[in-house]
Amino acid sequence: MIPAPFDYEVAESVGHALQLVGDRDDAKLLAGGHSLIPALKLRIARPSKLVDIGRLAELSYVRDAGPQLAIGALTRHKAVRDDQLLQEHCPIVSTTAGMIGDPQVRHRGTIGGSLAHGDPASDLPAVLLALDGEVDLAAATGVRTLSARDFFLGVFDTAVGPGEMVTEVRVPKFSADHVWSFLKFRRRAQDWATVGVAAVARRSNGGVADPAIAFVNMGATPLRAPAAEAAWAAGADPGASADEGTDPPSDTSGSAEFRRHLARVLVTRAVEEANRR
Ligand code: FAD
Repeated sequence: MIPAPFDYEVAESVGHALQLVGDRDDAKLLAGGHSLIPALKLRIARPSKLVDIGRLAELSYVRDAGPQLAIGALTRHKAVRDDQLLQEHCPIVSTTAGMIGDPQVRHRGTIGGSLAHGDPASDLPAVLLALDGEVDLAAATGVRTLSARDFFLGVFDTAVGPGEMVTEVRVPKFSADHVWSFLKFRRRAQDWATVGVAAVARRSNGGVADPAIAFVNMGATPLRAPAAEAAWAAGADPGASADEGTDPPSDTSGSAEFRRHLARVLVTRAVEEANRR
């Protein structure tokens, strides 16, 4: 289909983007366009203005930020995958970015777009939730920082308000004690996850401490799995109760019941893989 008419402006700086997006309530930012363009074509999204932020090189970076790594919102999935700081200090993020879609998607899609789009089938939101990461939201009036727990509100719904823009994402640096895994089940090599699992913990006294397990596509938002986390910490089978508190969809990729089964299996496997690291 052909999109509904819209005005189009190219932002030359973050300040310029905020000014352009702030002057119309239904304006939308265009980053990699891999989700927004299809939504425009299907007329699911009908913004009267697009603000193209795809050329803002100032928002494409990975930086050492002390105990954290800071990732600019316009950093493409391929750059996240290939980044040496992330590979060394938070490899779950670079590894997951390398499992997104196919090379074309990874060359265009951005971490900011992936989070702001609020698709429960996206991979990086669940990883950010497991890591208790942070998101900076800038507006003409200033910047606010949200934890991942407060960022995802529902299907295609996030805390990004009118006139706001994700500018930076921060994740913690791992210590030598950290163990982790990201697994996803998909019907074909390049498909979205039917279900995905991010698992992170620290080795401690022969077991693990601070276990965090988060799901892709087991509800309206990325979800933590508290029962599985408690089982992991206790040395019990984390898979047995992994789907507790989830509300998976039924669609052409699988029924809710199948997703619950996948969640239990994938959590067991992810924890086994993490424990082996
Ligand atoms: P856009 O499409 O440009 O924007 C998406 C939404 O976010 C829009 O509403 C836009 O206004 C908003 N937005 C963008 N940037 C910002 C910002 N900085 N601040 C505030 N709002 C912003 N993802 C996965 O996780 N796993 C997969 O396996 C996967 N497979 C894919 C396969 C295909 C064929 C395609 C087309 C996409 C796939 N994706 C997958 C999604 C892809 O990862 C994109 O990253 C994601 O669609 C959105 O990023 P984008 O930069 O393209 O955002």
